[in-house]
Amino acid sequence: MYAALKSEFEDQQVTLVAVSKTKPQEAIMELYDRGQRIFAENRVQELVEKQAALPKDISWHMIGALQKNKVKYLAPFIDMIHSVDSLALAKMINKEATKQQRTISILLQIKIGKEEAKSGYNEKQLWDEVAEMKAMDGIKICGVMGIGTYTDEQAVTQSEFRLLKSYFDKIKATHFKDEPYFKEISMGMSGDYQLAIREGSTMVRIGSLLFGSR
Ligand SMILES: *Cc1c(COP(=O)(O)O)cnc(C)c1O
Repeated sequence: MYAALKSEFEDQQVTLVAVSKTKPQEAIMELYDRGQRIFAENRVQELVEKQAALPKDISWHMIGALQKNKVKYLAPFIDMIHSVDSLALAKMINKEATKQQRTISILLQIKIGKEEAKSGYNEKQLWDEVAEMKAMDGIKICGVMGIGTYTDEQAVTQSEFRLLKSYFDKIKATHFKDEPYFKEISMGMSGDYQLAIREGSTMVRIGSLLFGSR
């Protein structure tokens, strides 16, 4: 499965983020040995433990809800945080990154799915906050992230992905026209990545398809 997905994504110039949450270190090493370097987790403690134990050239991404008081544990090593959904969180990442003399790449998580539990920016908050976040030296806003509603109805997922792409385009046009690093649209998981790529995804977050169901 890995080899097929890898070449599919390479052809389409889409970045494969391997979602290793709940999976043991050996499973990560199996993919690492076949060339995968980007892995993502959704819980801070698990992420910190795996980072400490595994090869240092792994690029770790955080994709889960992140509490401000836990940012400090990730700041020394995290490469990208996909789940930034408030100015307060961005400020904390900026502060901790600055302490580490690092710049941490982040994505703005936007609420596109219908489930109440799913986090992310709504439109109004987003417009109020992007400019202030852009001025922070410890973070680099590289794009947007969204999680589609868990559903079999392709039309629903498709319209959510289109919504995310339209946010990306609008933020790019208003704030990042001259910043080539603002280029990522993190959307698509095991069940909907093909649709996501058709709708403009640049990063797919794949767990169960690579590692088996959780
Ligand atoms: C778990 C998770 C994924 C991967 O889901 P799969 O369906 O296993 O591919 C992607 N994104 C987020 C935010 C997740 O929490």
